[in-house]
Amino acid sequence: MDHAAPLIDPFARAITYLRVSVTDRCDFRCTYCMAEHMQFLPKRDLLTLEELERLCTAFVRLGVSKLRITGGEPLVRRNVMSFFEGMSQHLGAGLDELTLTTNGSQLDRFAGPLAACGVRRVNVSLDTLDPNKFRAITRWGTLDKVRRGIDAARDAGMRIKINTVALKGFNESELFDLVSWCRAEDMDLTFIEVMPMGDMGDGTDGTLRLDQYWPLRDLRARLAERFALTDLPDRTGGPARYVRLDGTGPRLGFITPLTHNFCESCNRVRVTCTGQLFMCLGQEDAADLRAALRGGAGDGALEDAIRYAIARKPRGHDFDYSRQSVGGRMSRHMSHTGG
Ligand code: SAM
Ligand code: SF4
Repeated sequence: MDHAAPLIDPFARAITYLRVSVTDRCDFRCTYCMAEHMQFLPKRDLLTLEELERLCTAFVRLGVSKLRITGGEPLVRRNVMSFFEGMSQHLGAGLDELTLTTNGSQLDRFAGPLAACGVRRVNVSLDTLDPNKFRAITRWGTLDKVRRGIDAARDAGMRIKINTVALKGFNESELFDLVSWCRAEDMDLTFIEVMPMGDMGDGTDGTLRLDQYWPLRDLRARLAERFALTDLPDRTGGPARYVRLDGTGPRLGFITPLTHNFCESCNRVRVTCTGQLFMCLGQEDAADLRAALRGGAGDGALEDAIRYAIARKPRGHDFDYSRQSVGGRMSRHMSHTGG
């Protein structure tokens, strides 16, 4: 592949990490993410797998070396493995890492094929180890199936990181159980501060309530009462900060987009399942790459559209719970943008 000049934004940040949502659909209905009767987009609005491959390939030509596939639930997209197979061709030829974030429900089937496509690491979202609470938070999920998926991923040789959304009054009591489980299973664990995205209901139908917001500052302080936490210098260019537990224990991450400013080192952009390129998770500005893909233009015009968008990447994000009442929250869904 011929490589073009790399993507550098107006603040001299090189854009090397692309997160792509391949579907807005999901087989779970996590209360903080989707309404139970979520209206999905018409199929024609979604990029086809061929369009996704062409777009991601353009990003690799422009210097993206890490690609994370997400959704919705990426593994419920029909024939998604053909897309993984296509992208795996770029591994070692511009692309260093091909990975995904999944709810784990389909991993028992797909772990082997994903590993065969060069996927070495997978992030699995899991908020509780209690089967009843798991069903309550995901509405439709089965903990056992996800745990089988995690086992299959490990058997296929993948390294697993668990992502847990910190929810006050929900998984507070399981903090130490989750840490012990990850330690025993040799998995890393990252806590995510809940973000004000999409539907935030009043709690009457089980949707996320604002009083479930559990600042990771508090969570971390609670961990520090029991464990020695050593700050790690690891930086991924994103909102995560890492510690090592008890010197040699698992690596714990904290993703705190609301309370920490991580924007100076931001190296990433996101593409939604409809081909909208978001330069910043916390801003509404997006570029319509589907129009560029469907307009019959060649790869040069597609690259120009990407470059033009990157030139608008803002300095920082704009999340603020205090501005909820005046429309400060993000109206789009995490399942469109990709978490
Ligand atoms: N379905 C896949 C999964 O659950 O891993 C991938 C997409 S999901 C949108 C990606 C991540 O976003 C998950 O870890 C999920 O817990 C997280 N997420 C969804 N809604 C969120 C919210 N309102 N605040 C914080 N994290 C959220
Ligand atoms: Fe689906 Fe992931 Fe959203 Fe849960 S967090 S509803 S698994 S997209």
